[in-house]
Amino acid sequence: MNKQKVVSILSKISELKKNTGLRIIDTHVHPLDVMGVVHYTDVKNEYAKADYLVPGVLEKFNYGKIAQVGSKLFYKLLPKEINKIIKNNCMSIAEKRILDEMDLSFVDSAVMLPVAPWLPTEIIGEKFLSDRLIALGSVDIHNIRTEEIDNYLTNIKEKYKIVGIKLHPNLQNFKPQPSQNSPELGEKLHHIYKFAEKEHLYLLFHGGVSLYTDFTDPKYKGNIPRSRMNAMLRNFCDINGKSELFENYNIPIVIAHLGHFGIINPDYKLMKIIAKKFNNIYFDTAGVSPSFIRNTLQFIPSQKIVFGSDALYNRIAYNLAFIYLALESVRNGEQKENIISNILYKNFLSITSI
Ligand SMILES: [Zn+2]
Repeated sequence: MNKQKVVSILSKISELKKNTGLRIIDTHVHPLDVMGVVHYTDVKNEYAKADYLVPGVLEKFNYGKIAQVGSKLFYKLLPKEINKIIKNNCMSIAEKRILDEMDLSFVDSAVMLPVAPWLPTEIIGEKFLSDRLIALGSVDIHNIRTEEIDNYLTNIKEKYKIVGIKLHPNLQNFKPQPSQNSPELGEKLHHIYKFAEKEHLYLLFHGGVSLYTDFTDPKYKGNIPRSRMNAMLRNFCDINGKSELFENYNIPIVIAHLGHFGIINPDYKLMKIIAKKFNNIYFDTAGVSPSFIRNTLQFIPSQKIVFGSDALYNRIAYNLAFIYLALESVRNGEQKENIISNILYKNFLSITSI
């Protein structure tokens, strides 16, 4: 997709906003790097205006089958190049940089995601203060003691008004189901899930593999090793959908990237089982191609899908346009206007009851 196409779709979306009262909430934004390339203490609070309607370098590699293979190879063969791109992208970020891109894409609110220890909640909470920006919390699960978890979460909830907790099984190195970890780590996860249940927070999990390079900033030295595969959909439940996480806790759970980041052949069968079996499980569209979104909507109702972009690694406008494109060919019996309002804001409002 080129800039011209994005601009023409955006103008249709803006018409819809004017005529139907549509709102747009981007539920998946990383305002700063979470991959360990740029340490959060090094980020400069400034930014140079750029054209956010031109695709970013990273996102050119992320869409489509060939591109996905390309992006994997790119990470493997040219790690230094990738690090350089991320550095250029994430070294200087001011709040205004994010609000500008949101305005250009007609996005009303956006959810800011930390991933501790790579990006702690406190940095998000203190740097991004606009009332259009909503914070999630994140727990540094390997370094916190079990008995500190409740206190820590209570604190960040009060201070930064977090509405949910972001969990990244790959970058934080754990399995989503508590019993598949060491007893100590499992107990910590259980505490986090119980807290979310009690305080009506939702959980947002990374879904799929992770592409990253092993060159982390030396300031992160001493941190835990990471995993590339822990967040595979098959680690959330078994092939029949049986899941300690989905069944034992009464919490809305969003699995990012339609559950398949970096995976070429999605497990549609498992997605279908999960959607059918559980009322509380949702998927977001961050960094996902239009064809994957369309295929998913053929068998999962739009009430289960929320819009996310994976900005600032990706461009908000492109990910929004991808949803619009996907809808052009969906035939699932739902009205198009309902699908678009469910995905772009209604589902998120019902998950968070804001
Ligand atoms: Zn993400």
